[in-house]
Amino acid sequence: MRKYSVFAVAREAMRGHRGWEAQWTSPEPRKDYDVIIIGAGGHGLGTAYYLAKEHGITNIAVLEKGWLGGGNTGRNTTIIRSNYLYDESAGIYDHALKLWDGLSQDLNYNVMYSARGVMMLSHNIHDQQVFKRHIHANRLNGIDNEWLTPEQAQEFCPPLDISRTARYPINGAALQRRGGTARHDAVAWGYARAAADRGVHIIQNCEVTGIRRNPDGSVAGVDTNRGQINAKKVGVVAAGHTSVLMEMAGVRMPLVSYPLQALVSEPIKPIFPCVVMSNTVHAYISQSDKGELVIGAGTDQYSSYSQTGGLQIITHTLDAICELFPIFRRMKMMRSWGGIVDVTPDRSPILAKTPVQGLYVNCGWGTGGFKATPGSANVFAHTIANDAPHKINAPFTLERFRSGRLIDEAAAAAVAH
Ligand SMILES: Cc1cc2nc3c(=O)[nH]c(=O)nc-3n(C[C@H](O)[C@H](O)[C@H](O)COP(=O)(O)OP(=O)(O)OC[C@H]3O[C@@H](n4cnc5c(N)ncnc54)[C@H](O)[C@@H]3O)c2cc1C
Repeated sequence: MRKYSVFAVAREAMRGHRGWEAQWTSPEPRKDYDVIIIGAGGHGLGTAYYLAKEHGITNIAVLEKGWLGGGNTGRNTTIIRSNYLYDESAGIYDHALKLWDGLSQDLNYNVMYSARGVMMLSHNIHDQQVFKRHIHANRLNGIDNEWLTPEQAQEFCPPLDISRTARYPINGAALQRRGGTARHDAVAWGYARAAADRGVHIIQNCEVTGIRRNPDGSVAGVDTNRGQINAKKVGVVAAGHTSVLMEMAGVRMPLVSYPLQALVSEPIKPIFPCVVMSNTVHAYISQSDKGELVIGAGTDQYSSYSQTGGLQIITHTLDAICELFPIFRRMKMMRSWGGIVDVTPDRSPILAKTPVQGLYVNCGWGTGGFKATPGSANVFAHTIANDAPHKINAPFTLERFRSGRLIDEAAAAAVAH
């Protein structure tokens, strides 16, 4: 595939941009592949890319029931950070953060990673203790995270109201300067283009309706609405629909699927230089390059597979945003939408082999998997290629819910996720 460069852009500008080729091909599915990946979100496409690039496996199909990037990858609020509490989490999220740094160059595709800083607001003594514990734990793992006074927090984010009369007064903040955002669609497109360039088949509008097994129990392939496709290895990377797919192979998952919503305002001039999260009040906000305020809510309280959520959830979020940032009170909201997130009991992901030989699963990212995309895809590719986990994802097993060796980021955050 032709390399994107300043010369290519200049050449195409001279001839009316008629020379660009399609970013990825849309082949008919073959009968057999070495590996099938179910789900063309960032994690699935990234897995295919690293399988091809780092493990030399190119006879791969990525099967997607809708359009690539149309799941949670294209619906999230794009926050990237690695300041989780436990060592296991530090390992995987910081592996991802390091890959984000060179991802545009690696893919030859501008994913617009912007390390503008993620600031988490502390409103009470409990928040302060939790954040300081995170800061110390992160530093021991070589991860940047620092404590700011309210004045320093306002200096970093001028629209922040730090008056003592605010509804939710701020007594400090934890700042990860390397945290930030990336353009989510570009992540899916960049991985798709780079994977297709290495021979990976990306097959959209192809819904997996069954996972077939050999008489010895191992994976034989999948049934789809476009026919049967064989493969010795199948990776399920289907976020909110993981339980449904794993059920097809007879594996019960410790997951609950919930709608999670986000919304954007009308575009305004650049005013908001970073990402701000308030776990206690439960709202988070950043400003996109188009100028919209990008606002995220919490999950709905009931499980569902509909990509819409309850109105009361986003109105609560807007209440919180207006209390934290009174200057936004008169802004109009332009769009809201939902995605289906797959939540584990400890709010940490599962990236592992399964009891079915040749079947692998990457799921349970819940409300926070976008940030992990490159790291997750990279170690999941290793797991599939070697039929054994990478040391970074070795702790993220299915068995931990039986053995009790949880990676309890739910308890560590000490707020509803
Ligand atoms: C509103 C919202 C805000 C979020 N904000 C953030 C954030 O700020 N930061 C962060 O880190 N994370 C965030 N997340 C979470 C993040 O989006 C996800 O964890 C991540 O994108 C999951 O990526 P994925 O590739 O695993 O899944 P997806 O992108 O959902 O891809 C899975 C794909 O599988 C396909 N599929 C499902 N069933 C089948 C089938 N039977 N056959 C074929 N294909 C199938 C789906 O169509 C889908 O395209 C947010 C999520 C939402 C919904």
